[in-house]
Amino acid sequence: MRGHSHVIKPLLDKEYPTVSHGRGVYLYDIEGKAYLDGCSGAVTANIGHGVQPVIDAMNEQAKKVCFTYRSQFTSEAAEALAAKLASWTPGDLDYVFFVNSGSEATETVMKIAIQYWQEQGRTTKNKVLSRWMSYHGITMGALSMSGHILRRKRFIPLLEEFPSIEPPYCYRCPFNSTYPSCGLLCANQLEQAIHRIGADHIAAFIAEPIIGASGGAVTPPPYYYQRIKEICERYNILFIADEVMTGNGRTGKPFGIDHWGVVPDLMALGKGMSAGYTPMAAAIASRRIIDIIAAGSKSIMSGHTFSANPQSAAVSLSVMQYIEDNQLITRAEERGIQLMAGLQALMQKHDIIGDVRGKGLLCGIEFVKNRTTKEPFSLNLHVTERLIEKAMQKGLLIYSASGGIDGQAGDAVLVAPPFVISEEEVNELLFILDQSIGEIEVELK
Ligand code: PLP
Repeated sequence: MRGHSHVIKPLLDKEYPTVSHGRGVYLYDIEGKAYLDGCSGAVTANIGHGVQPVIDAMNEQAKKVCFTYRSQFTSEAAEALAAKLASWTPGDLDYVFFVNSGSEATETVMKIAIQYWQEQGRTTKNKVLSRWMSYHGITMGALSMSGHILRRKRFIPLLEEFPSIEPPYCYRCPFNSTYPSCGLLCANQLEQAIHRIGADHIAAFIAEPIIGASGGAVTPPPYYYQRIKEICERYNILFIADEVMTGNGRTGKPFGIDHWGVVPDLMALGKGMSAGYTPMAAAIASRRIIDIIAAGSKSIMSGHTFSANPQSAAVSLSVMQYIEDNQLITRAEERGIQLMAGLQALMQKHDIIGDVRGKGLLCGIEFVKNRTTKEPFSLNLHVTERLIEKAMQKGLLIYSASGGIDGQAGDAVLVAPPFVISEEEVNELLFILDQSIGEIEVELK
Protein backbone atom coordinates (compact mmCIF):
# COMPACT_ATOMS: atom_id res chain seq x y z
CA MET A 1 0.00 0.00 0.00
CA ARG A 2 1.45 3.36 -1.00
CA GLY A 3 1.17 6.48 1.15
CA HIS A 4 0.28 6.51 4.82
CA SER A 5 -1.00 3.25 6.31
CA HIS A 6 -2.56 2.61 9.74
CA VAL A 7 -1.85 -1.14 9.62
CA ILE A 8 0.98 -2.36 11.86
CA LYS A 9 3.01 -4.66 9.63
CA PRO A 10 5.84 -7.07 10.54
CA LEU A 11 8.51 -4.52 9.56
CA LEU A 12 7.41 -0.98 10.26
CA ASP A 13 9.81 0.58 7.78
CA LYS A 14 9.02 -1.69 4.84
CA GLU A 15 6.53 -1.31 1.99
CA TYR A 16 4.44 -4.40 1.31
CA PRO A 17 2.58 -5.10 -1.93
CA THR A 18 -1.22 -4.90 -1.69
CA VAL A 19 -2.89 -8.15 -2.64
CA SER A 20 -5.68 -8.04 -5.17
CA HIS A 21 -6.80 -11.67 -5.49
CA GLY A 22 -5.69 -15.28 -5.53
CA ARG A 23 -6.33 -18.21 -7.90
CA GLY A 24 -4.89 -21.69 -7.46
CA VAL A 25 -1.23 -21.45 -6.44
CA TYR A 26 -0.92 -17.78 -7.49
CA LEU A 27 -1.52 -14.50 -5.67
CA TYR A 28 -1.79 -11.21 -7.59
CA ASP A 29 -1.09 -7.71 -6.32
CA ILE A 30 -2.99 -4.59 -7.36
CA GLU A 31 -0.26 -3.76 -9.88
CA GLY A 32 -1.04 -7.06 -11.63
CA LYS A 33 2.14 -8.87 -10.59
CA ALA A 34 1.76 -12.66 -10.03
CA TYR A 35 3.41 -14.51 -7.13
CA LEU A 36 3.70 -18.30 -7.03
CA ASP A 37 2.69 -19.14 -3.45
CA GLY A 38 5.58 -21.51 -2.72
CA CYS A 39 4.88 -21.59 1.01
CA SER A 40 1.06 -21.41 1.17
CA GLY A 41 1.42 -18.10 3.02
CA ALA A 42 2.53 -19.36 6.43
CA VAL A 43 2.16 -23.05 5.42
CA THR A 44 -1.60 -22.54 5.55
CA ALA A 45 -3.27 -22.15 2.11
CA ASN A 46 -3.12 -25.92 1.56
CA ILE A 47 -5.81 -26.09 -1.15
CA GLY A 48 -4.75 -22.93 -2.95
CA HIS A 49 -6.72 -19.75 -3.47
CA GLY A 50 -10.21 -19.05 -4.77
CA VAL A 51 -11.61 -22.59 -4.42
CA GLN A 52 -15.28 -22.35 -5.46
CA PRO A 53 -16.83 -25.13 -3.30
CA VAL A 54 -15.34 -23.47 -0.20
CA ILE A 55 -16.62 -20.05 -1.25
CA ASP A 56 -20.06 -21.63 -1.82
CA ALA A 57 -20.03 -23.28 1.62
CA MET A 58 -19.03 -19.93 3.13
CA ASN A 59 -21.99 -18.17 1.47
CA GLU A 60 -24.48 -20.91 2.32
CA GLN A 61 -23.59 -20.86 6.02
CA ALA A 62 -23.58 -17.05 6.09
CA LYS A 63 -27.18 -17.09 4.86
CA LYS A 64 -28.19 -19.32 7.82
CA VAL A 65 -26.20 -18.03 10.81
CA CYS A 66 -22.60 -16.85 11.26
CA PHE A 67 -22.16 -16.65 14.99
CA THR A 68 -23.55 -18.45 17.99
CA TYR A 69 -21.90 -18.69 21.40
CA ARG A 70 -20.67 -22.14 22.43
CA SER A 71 -22.21 -21.87 25.92
CA GLN A 72 -25.64 -21.45 24.29
CA PHE A 73 -25.69 -23.52 21.09
CA THR A 74 -23.90 -26.22 19.20
CA SER A 75 -24.32 -26.20 15.40
CA GLU A 76 -24.66 -28.72 12.61
CA ALA A 77 -21.47 -27.35 11.08
CA ALA A 78 -19.40 -27.73 14.28
CA GLU A 79 -20.78 -31.23 14.90
CA ALA A 80 -20.03 -32.33 11.34
CA LEU A 81 -16.53 -30.83 11.42
CA ALA A 82 -15.68 -32.56 14.73
CA ALA A 83 -16.94 -35.88 13.31
CA LYS A 84 -14.87 -35.36 10.15
CA LEU A 85 -11.75 -34.62 12.23
CA ALA A 86 -12.37 -37.71 14.38
CA SER A 87 -12.53 -39.79 11.19
CA TRP A 88 -9.07 -38.49 10.16
CA THR A 89 -7.25 -38.70 13.52
CA PRO A 90 -5.48 -41.86 14.68
CA GLY A 91 -6.57 -43.97 17.67
CA ASP A 92 -9.18 -42.58 20.04
CA LEU A 93 -8.45 -38.88 19.39
CA ASP A 94 -12.17 -38.25 19.03
CA TYR A 95 -13.00 -35.08 21.00
CA VAL A 96 -12.53 -31.63 19.56
CA PHE A 97 -12.33 -28.26 21.33
CA PHE A 98 -12.51 -25.54 18.67
CA VAL A 99 -10.34 -22.43 18.92
CA ASN A 100 -9.16 -19.78 16.45
CA SER A 101 -5.38 -20.02 16.08
CA GLY A 102 -2.54 -22.48 16.48
CA SER A 103 -1.35 -20.68 19.62
CA GLU A 104 -4.78 -21.06 21.21
CA ALA A 105 -4.77 -24.73 20.19
CA THR A 106 -1.44 -25.49 21.90
CA GLU A 107 -2.41 -23.49 25.01
CA THR A 108 -5.70 -25.39 25.18
CA VAL A 109 -4.10 -28.84 24.91
CA MET A 110 -1.65 -27.75 27.62
CA LYS A 111 -4.58 -26.82 29.89
CA ILE A 112 -6.48 -30.02 29.12
CA ALA A 113 -3.36 -32.06 30.02
CA ILE A 114 -2.94 -30.26 33.35
CA GLN A 115 -6.66 -30.54 34.13
CA TYR A 116 -6.63 -34.27 33.31
CA TRP A 117 -4.17 -34.87 36.15
CA GLN A 118 -5.88 -32.41 38.52
CA GLU A 119 -9.18 -34.28 38.12
CA GLN A 120 -7.37 -37.35 39.46
CA GLY A 121 -5.96 -35.47 42.45
CA ARG A 122 -2.48 -35.16 40.92
CA THR A 123 -2.28 -31.40 41.29
CA THR A 124 1.52 -31.08 41.11
CA LYS A 125 1.66 -32.40 37.53
CA ASN A 126 1.57 -29.01 35.79
CA LYS A 127 4.68 -28.59 33.65
CA VAL A 128 4.70 -29.33 29.93
CA LEU A 129 8.16 -30.34 28.73
CA SER A 130 9.23 -29.48 25.19
CA ARG A 131 12.32 -29.28 22.98
CA TRP A 132 14.68 -26.49 22.11
CA MET A 133 14.34 -25.40 18.46
CA SER A 134 10.58 -25.68 18.51
CA TYR A 135 7.66 -23.35 17.92
CA HIS A 136 4.25 -23.79 19.53
CA GLY A 137 2.85 -20.28 19.26
CA ILE A 138 3.26 -16.66 20.25
CA THR A 139 0.92 -16.19 23.24
CA MET A 140 2.61 -16.50 26.65
CA GLY A 141 1.65 -20.11 27.45
CA ALA A 142 2.50 -21.26 23.94
CA LEU A 143 5.72 -19.26 23.99
CA SER A 144 6.66 -20.87 27.32
CA MET A 145 6.57 -24.21 25.51
CA SER A 146 8.42 -22.86 22.46
CA GLY A 147 12.17 -23.38 22.22
CA HIS A 148 12.49 -20.65 19.58
CA ILE A 149 15.32 -18.50 20.91
CA LEU A 150 14.60 -15.35 18.89
CA ARG A 151 10.88 -15.28 19.69
CA ARG A 152 11.41 -15.97 23.44
CA LYS A 153 14.26 -13.53 23.97
CA ARG A 154 12.35 -10.34 24.88
CA PHE A 155 9.96 -12.07 27.27
CA ILE A 156 12.24 -14.46 29.16
CA PRO A 157 11.30 -13.20 32.68
CA LEU A 158 7.62 -13.90 31.97
CA LEU A 159 8.11 -17.38 30.54
CA GLU A 160 8.31 -20.84 32.07
CA GLU A 161 11.36 -22.74 30.90
CA PHE A 162 9.45 -25.71 29.49
CA PRO A 163 12.00 -26.50 26.72
CA SER A 164 14.09 -29.18 28.39
CA ILE A 165 15.65 -31.39 25.75
CA GLU A 166 17.64 -31.12 22.52
CA PRO A 167 15.89 -31.41 19.14
CA PRO A 168 16.26 -34.48 16.87
CA TYR A 169 18.44 -32.42 14.54
CA CYS A 170 20.50 -35.07 12.72
CA TYR A 171 22.18 -32.56 10.36
CA ARG A 172 23.87 -30.93 13.38
CA CYS A 173 23.46 -33.62 16.00
CA PRO A 174 23.53 -31.96 19.45
CA PHE A 175 25.40 -35.06 20.69
CA ASN A 176 27.89 -35.16 17.79
CA SER A 177 26.60 -38.58 16.91
CA THR A 178 24.98 -40.31 13.93
CA TYR A 179 21.80 -42.32 13.52
CA PRO A 180 21.39 -45.27 14.12
CA SER A 181 24.56 -45.80 16.18
CA CYS A 182 23.49 -42.88 18.41
CA GLY A 183 20.79 -45.13 19.91
CA LEU A 184 18.40 -42.11 19.78
CA LEU A 185 20.24 -40.11 22.45
CA CYS A 186 17.97 -37.12 21.68
CA ALA A 187 14.85 -39.10 22.59
CA ASN A 188 16.50 -40.71 25.61
CA GLN A 189 17.25 -37.25 26.96
CA LEU A 190 13.55 -36.95 27.77
CA GLU A 191 14.00 -39.66 30.40
CA GLN A 192 16.92 -37.75 31.95
CA ALA A 193 14.83 -34.56 32.06
CA ILE A 194 12.00 -36.46 33.75
CA HIS A 195 14.42 -37.79 36.38
CA ARG A 196 15.78 -34.28 36.97
CA ILE A 197 12.41 -32.53 37.24
CA GLY A 198 10.36 -35.39 38.65
CA ALA A 199 7.44 -37.11 36.90
CA ASP A 200 5.15 -35.81 39.66
CA HIS A 201 5.63 -32.31 38.25
CA ILE A 202 5.15 -33.10 34.57
CA ALA A 203 1.74 -33.23 32.87
CA ALA A 204 2.84 -33.72 29.27
CA PHE A 205 5.55 -33.55 26.62
CA ILE A 206 4.80 -31.58 23.43
CA ALA A 207 6.54 -31.82 20.05
CA GLU A 208 5.99 -30.83 16.41
CA PRO A 209 6.29 -34.15 14.53
CA ILE A 210 8.46 -32.33 11.95
CA ILE A 211 10.06 -29.10 13.20
CA GLY A 212 8.74 -26.25 11.06
CA ALA A 213 9.25 -22.55 11.64
CA SER A 214 12.26 -22.83 13.95
CA GLY A 215 14.41 -25.19 11.89
CA GLY A 216 13.07 -25.75 8.39
CA ALA A 217 11.35 -29.15 8.19
CA VAL A 218 13.79 -30.87 10.57
CA THR A 219 12.67 -34.49 10.42
CA PRO A 220 13.41 -36.91 13.29
CA PRO A 221 14.94 -40.31 12.48
CA PRO A 222 12.89 -43.55 12.38
CA TYR A 223 11.68 -44.82 15.78
CA TYR A 224 12.20 -41.43 17.44
CA TYR A 225 8.53 -40.96 18.39
CA GLN A 226 8.09 -44.62 19.29
CA ARG A 227 10.84 -44.09 21.91
CA ILE A 228 9.33 -40.77 23.06
CA LYS A 229 5.92 -42.39 23.50
CA GLU A 230 7.43 -45.35 25.42
CA ILE A 231 9.15 -42.95 27.82
CA CYS A 232 5.98 -40.86 28.28
CA GLU A 233 3.94 -43.98 29.06
CA ARG A 234 6.56 -45.32 31.48
CA TYR A 235 6.36 -42.11 33.56
CA ASN A 236 2.63 -41.32 33.23
CA ILE A 237 3.20 -38.28 31.04
CA LEU A 238 0.82 -37.38 28.21
CA PHE A 239 2.25 -37.03 24.71
CA ILE A 240 1.01 -34.02 22.71
CA ALA A 241 1.56 -33.77 18.94
CA ASP A 242 1.58 -30.15 17.77
CA GLU A 243 0.23 -30.70 14.27
CA VAL A 244 -0.56 -27.05 13.60
CA MET A 245 1.84 -27.05 10.63
CA THR A 246 2.20 -30.77 9.87
CA GLY A 247 -1.49 -31.71 10.17
CA ASN A 248 -4.34 -32.01 7.65
CA GLY A 249 -2.31 -33.69 4.92
CA ARG A 250 0.69 -31.35 4.61
CA THR A 251 3.31 -34.13 4.86
CA GLY A 252 1.56 -36.58 2.54
CA LYS A 253 -0.27 -38.35 5.39
CA PRO A 254 -3.26 -37.03 7.36
CA PHE A 255 -0.96 -36.08 10.27
CA GLY A 256 2.81 -35.77 10.60
CA ILE A 257 2.94 -38.25 13.48
CA ASP A 258 1.40 -40.91 11.19
CA HIS A 259 4.85 -41.33 9.59
CA TRP A 260 5.97 -42.87 12.90
CA GLY A 261 2.73 -44.81 13.54
CA VAL A 262 2.39 -43.34 17.04
CA VAL A 263 -0.92 -42.26 18.58
CA PRO A 264 -0.60 -39.13 20.73
CA ASP A 265 -2.87 -38.42 23.73
CA LEU A 266 -3.60 -34.87 22.56
CA MET A 267 -3.21 -33.01 19.28
CA ALA A 268 -3.19 -29.32 18.30
CA LEU A 269 -4.37 -28.29 14.82
CA GLY A 270 -4.59 -24.96 13.00
CA LYS A 271 -3.31 -23.48 9.72
CA GLY A 272 -4.30 -26.09 7.06
CA MET A 273 -7.42 -27.07 8.99
CA SER A 274 -9.21 -24.19 7.29
CA ALA A 275 -6.50 -23.62 4.65
CA GLY A 276 -6.69 -19.95 5.59
CA TYR A 277 -10.28 -19.48 4.38
CA THR A 278 -11.19 -18.53 7.96
CA PRO A 279 -9.42 -18.48 11.34
CA MET A 280 -10.00 -21.96 12.75
CA ALA A 281 -7.98 -24.31 14.96
CA ALA A 282 -8.58 -27.19 17.33
CA ALA A 283 -7.39 -28.94 20.47
CA ILE A 284 -8.13 -32.65 20.11
CA ALA A 285 -8.23 -35.03 23.06
CA SER A 286 -8.46 -38.77 23.38
CA ARG A 287 -11.63 -40.36 24.71
CA ARG A 288 -9.78 -41.46 27.91
CA ILE A 289 -8.92 -37.88 28.76
CA ILE A 290 -12.41 -36.53 28.16
CA ASP A 291 -13.96 -39.44 30.13
CA ILE A 292 -11.90 -38.47 33.19
CA ILE A 293 -12.94 -34.81 32.96
CA ALA A 294 -16.57 -35.78 32.28
CA ALA A 295 -16.55 -37.92 35.42
CA GLY A 296 -15.00 -35.06 37.42
CA SER A 297 -15.56 -31.32 37.07
CA LYS A 298 -17.39 -31.83 33.73
CA SER A 299 -15.94 -28.73 32.11
CA ILE A 300 -12.68 -27.77 30.43
CA MET A 301 -11.55 -24.49 31.92
CA SER A 302 -10.86 -22.65 28.68
CA GLY A 303 -12.68 -21.06 25.75
CA HIS A 304 -12.79 -18.07 23.45
CA THR A 305 -15.71 -15.97 22.24
CA PHE A 306 -15.35 -17.18 18.66
CA SER A 307 -14.77 -20.87 19.55
CA ALA A 308 -16.82 -23.27 17.38
CA ASN A 309 -18.68 -20.50 15.53
CA PRO A 310 -20.81 -22.08 12.77
CA GLN A 311 -19.38 -19.90 10.01
CA SER A 312 -15.75 -21.00 10.53
CA ALA A 313 -16.83 -24.59 11.15
CA ALA A 314 -18.73 -24.77 7.83
CA VAL A 315 -15.75 -23.31 5.96
CA SER A 316 -13.25 -25.68 7.59
CA LEU A 317 -15.54 -28.65 6.93
CA SER A 318 -15.73 -27.77 3.23
CA VAL A 319 -11.91 -27.52 3.11
CA MET A 320 -11.55 -31.04 4.55
CA GLN A 321 -14.25 -32.30 2.18
CA TYR A 322 -12.43 -30.72 -0.78
CA ILE A 323 -9.19 -32.45 0.26
CA GLU A 324 -11.01 -35.81 0.42
CA ASP A 325 -12.93 -35.35 -2.83
CA ASN A 326 -9.80 -34.45 -4.78
CA GLN A 327 -7.44 -36.90 -3.02
CA LEU A 328 -5.15 -34.03 -2.19
CA ILE A 329 -3.19 -35.86 0.52
CA THR A 330 -1.96 -38.34 -2.11
CA ARG A 331 -1.26 -35.35 -4.35
CA ALA A 332 0.85 -33.75 -1.56
CA GLU A 333 2.83 -36.97 -1.30
CA GLU A 334 3.41 -37.22 -5.06
CA ARG A 335 4.28 -33.57 -5.66
CA GLY A 336 6.44 -33.73 -2.52
CA ILE A 337 8.57 -36.45 -4.13
CA GLN A 338 9.03 -34.27 -7.24
CA LEU A 339 9.83 -31.17 -5.15
CA MET A 340 12.35 -32.99 -2.98
CA ALA A 341 14.12 -34.44 -6.04
CA GLY A 342 14.29 -30.92 -7.48
CA LEU A 343 15.72 -29.50 -4.24
CA GLN A 344 18.33 -32.26 -4.14
CA ALA A 345 19.32 -31.31 -7.68
CA LEU A 346 19.67 -27.67 -6.58
CA MET A 347 21.92 -28.84 -3.76
CA GLN A 348 24.27 -30.42 -6.33
CA LYS A 349 24.44 -27.07 -8.07
CA HIS A 350 24.69 -24.61 -5.17
CA ASP A 351 27.39 -25.01 -2.51
CA ILE A 352 25.54 -22.78 -0.06
CA ILE A 353 22.85 -25.44 0.36
CA GLY A 354 23.94 -27.55 3.33
CA ASP A 355 20.88 -29.73 3.69
CA VAL A 356 17.46 -30.37 2.20
CA ARG A 357 14.85 -32.29 4.22
CA GLY A 358 11.19 -32.82 4.98
CA LYS A 359 8.24 -34.98 4.01
CA GLY A 360 5.44 -34.48 1.51
CA LEU A 361 5.01 -30.81 0.71
CA LEU A 362 6.79 -29.62 3.86
CA CYS A 363 10.37 -29.15 2.65
CA GLY A 364 13.24 -27.27 4.24
CA ILE A 365 16.55 -25.94 2.92
CA GLU A 366 19.40 -25.02 5.28
CA PHE A 367 22.14 -22.71 3.99
CA VAL A 368 25.79 -22.83 5.05
CA LYS A 369 28.97 -20.90 4.41
CA ASN A 370 30.96 -24.11 4.13
CA ARG A 371 29.27 -27.37 3.23
CA THR A 372 32.13 -29.54 4.52
CA THR A 373 32.39 -27.96 7.97
CA LYS A 374 28.67 -26.92 8.04
CA GLU A 375 29.83 -23.49 9.22
CA PRO A 376 26.76 -21.22 9.13
CA PHE A 377 26.64 -17.70 7.72
CA SER A 378 26.84 -14.82 10.17
CA LEU A 379 23.34 -13.58 11.01
CA ASN A 380 24.54 -10.07 10.09
CA LEU A 381 24.53 -11.17 6.44
CA HIS A 382 20.74 -11.76 6.60
CA VAL A 383 21.02 -14.56 4.03
CA THR A 384 17.49 -15.90 4.64
CA GLU A 385 15.82 -12.48 4.41
CA ARG A 386 17.79 -11.58 1.28
CA LEU A 387 16.87 -14.83 -0.42
CA ILE A 388 13.18 -14.45 0.46
CA GLU A 389 13.21 -10.88 -0.86
CA LYS A 390 15.01 -11.88 -4.05
CA ALA A 391 12.56 -14.74 -4.71
CA MET A 392 9.62 -12.42 -4.06
CA GLN A 393 10.95 -9.89 -6.59
CA LYS A 394 11.02 -12.74 -9.09
CA GLY A 395 7.46 -13.76 -8.19
CA LEU A 396 8.01 -16.65 -5.76
CA LEU A 397 7.01 -16.76 -2.07
CA ILE A 398 9.05 -18.86 0.39
CA TYR A 399 8.99 -18.87 4.22
CA SER A 400 11.69 -18.07 6.77
CA ALA A 401 12.63 -20.82 9.21
CA SER A 402 15.73 -19.21 10.69
CA GLY A 403 16.25 -17.69 14.10
CA GLY A 404 15.12 -20.70 16.09
CA ILE A 405 18.18 -22.80 15.47
CA ASP A 406 20.35 -21.30 18.17
CA GLY A 407 19.52 -17.62 18.07
CA GLN A 408 23.00 -16.82 16.77
CA ALA A 409 23.27 -18.60 13.47
CA GLY A 410 21.39 -20.81 11.09
CA ASP A 411 19.71 -19.85 7.83
CA ALA A 412 16.80 -21.96 6.66
CA VAL A 413 13.64 -21.62 4.59
CA LEU A 414 10.49 -23.68 4.14
CA VAL A 415 9.18 -24.53 0.69
CA ALA A 416 5.59 -25.71 1.13
CA PRO A 417 3.26 -24.94 -1.79
CA PRO A 418 -0.48 -25.72 -1.86
CA PHE A 419 -1.32 -29.41 -2.48
CA VAL A 420 -3.05 -28.47 -5.75
CA ILE A 421 0.27 -27.47 -7.34
CA SER A 422 0.80 -29.09 -10.75
CA GLU A 423 3.96 -30.75 -12.05
CA GLU A 424 4.68 -27.72 -14.28
CA GLU A 425 4.15 -25.31 -11.38
CA VAL A 426 6.64 -27.28 -9.23
CA ASN A 427 9.14 -26.89 -12.08
CA GLU A 428 8.45 -23.15 -12.24
CA LEU A 429 8.95 -22.89 -8.46
CA LEU A 430 12.28 -24.73 -8.71
CA PHE A 431 13.39 -22.55 -11.63
CA ILE A 432 12.84 -19.28 -9.74
CA LEU A 433 14.40 -20.73 -6.59
CA ASP A 434 17.45 -21.84 -8.58
CA GLN A 435 17.89 -18.34 -10.03
CA SER A 436 17.38 -16.65 -6.65
CA ILE A 437 19.86 -18.90 -4.81
CA GLY A 438 22.36 -18.50 -7.67
CA GLU A 439 22.23 -14.70 -7.42
CA ILE A 440 22.59 -14.74 -3.61
CA GLU A 441 25.53 -17.12 -3.97
CA VAL A 442 27.31 -14.65 -6.29
CA GLU A 443 26.59 -11.77 -3.89
CA LEU A 444 28.06 -13.70 -0.98
CA LYS A 445 31.36 -14.50 -2.74
N1 PLP B 1 2.43 -24.55 16.40
C1 PLP B 1 3.15 -24.69 15.29
C2 PLP B 1 3.84 -25.99 15.00
C3 PLP B 1 3.26 -23.64 14.38
O1 PLP B 1 4.00 -23.77 13.27
C4 PLP B 1 2.57 -22.43 14.65
C5 PLP B 1 2.68 -21.27 13.73
O2 PLP B 1 3.56 -21.17 12.92
C6 PLP B 1 1.82 -22.33 15.84
C7 PLP B 1 1.76 -23.42 16.69
C8 PLP B 1 1.08 -21.07 16.16
O3 PLP B 1 -0.01 -20.90 15.31
P1 PLP B 1 -0.68 -19.45 15.10
O4 PLP B 1 0.31 -18.61 14.39
O5 PLP B 1 -1.91 -19.76 14.29
O6 PLP B 1 -1.03 -18.93 16.45
